[in-house]
Amino acid sequence: MSGPIRLALIGMGKIAHDQHVPAIAADADIVLTATVSRNGEGVAGVAHFRDIDDLIASGLEIDAVALCTPPQVRRAIAARAIAQGWHVFLEKPPGATLAEVAQLSAAADAAGISLFASWHSRYAPGVEPARAFLADAEIRSVTVTWREDIRVWHPGQGWILEAGGFGVFDPGINALSIVTRILPRPFFITDAELDFPSNCAAPIAARLRFADDLGLAISADFDFRQEGPQSWDIVVETDRGTLTLHDGGARLVLPDGSEPSHSAALHGEYSGLYRRFAEIVHARTSDVDIAPLRHVADAFLRGERLTVEPFIE
Ligand code: NAP
Repeated sequence: MSGPIRLALIGMGKIAHDQHVPAIAADADIVLTATVSRNGEGVAGVAHFRDIDDLIASGLEIDAVALCTPPQVRRAIAARAIAQGWHVFLEKPPGATLAEVAQLSAAADAAGISLFASWHSRYAPGVEPARAFLADAEIRSVTVTWREDIRVWHPGQGWILEAGGFGVFDPGINALSIVTRILPRPFFITDAELDFPSNCAAPIAARLRFADDLGLAISADFDFRQEGPQSWDIVVETDRGTLTLHDGGARLVLPDGSEPSHSAALHGEYSGLYRRFAEIVHARTSDVDIAPLRHVADAFLRGERLTVEPFIE
């Protein structure tokens, strides 16, 4: 590809406007060529289409799409894009099921295009320094606390508590994307409890326990009903003291009290994602790590399902 990557942004909701549009505007290697949304607003000066079929019919030259729709509808749009020979950037989670992501991955390989299963939290500034610190530490325990107020952060997003919307795993999978990146060994779920409101098809809270081959205990507390102070924290006890990642990975505190990274939540994550996407498009490779999604699927397989009071937004 000679010039910049001509990209269409699909699903013009919160994350598309808040993060994708500014990150693309700041990236000289990517140009926003079209937006696609049934009801959402486009971007001034950029061609806007109602759905991917209208975009295809327009004949506009596109190299890549970034899909910012809810997970339930992402596979079908991604499959249409791959069939056009367009590179595909998937918002997290990369799909509503493991099988559909495997199928998209195979289709992308067969078409010779790049598929990117993005995990924005892995691009938080504290994550790579935490990984480096933990690479040669003896890890004794990991405690994840991801408690946020669904009414504050997801107003009007009814899809989250519908089947395939992930419920509290919509934010929780961000924590799992970090933990799977910073820990030096793979781990697996041992037991879990998932709280389903009596009127919802997805969990509003979950408590998970994991272990690895060496018996490391990892626990996670995800809750969408948190009012007051919000928590997106990962605490790792090691033989060298306590490492803490706060604010979804934006702020890292090492055992000696130093803070190698301290920035606002989400700051720089999407520019990092688009740098990575451009890199794999130019290299004609894909980047599809399903480990965080697999842990969520395992929580549904292994967890006990509890019914709790109905959720009314
Ligand atoms: P959102 O505000 O509800 O936006 C989703 C957009 O997708 C909507 O504007 C909608 O546009 C489109 N859409 C909805 N239902 C659709 C359907 N059935 N078919 C086709 N398009 C549909 O959600 P969001 O917060 O941006 O989240 C979208 C994705 O980004 C999720 O996977 C989420 O996990 C991820 N994400 C969100 C955040 C965040 O802070 N909100 C952060 C990181 C990642 P139209 O109705 O106009 O087509």
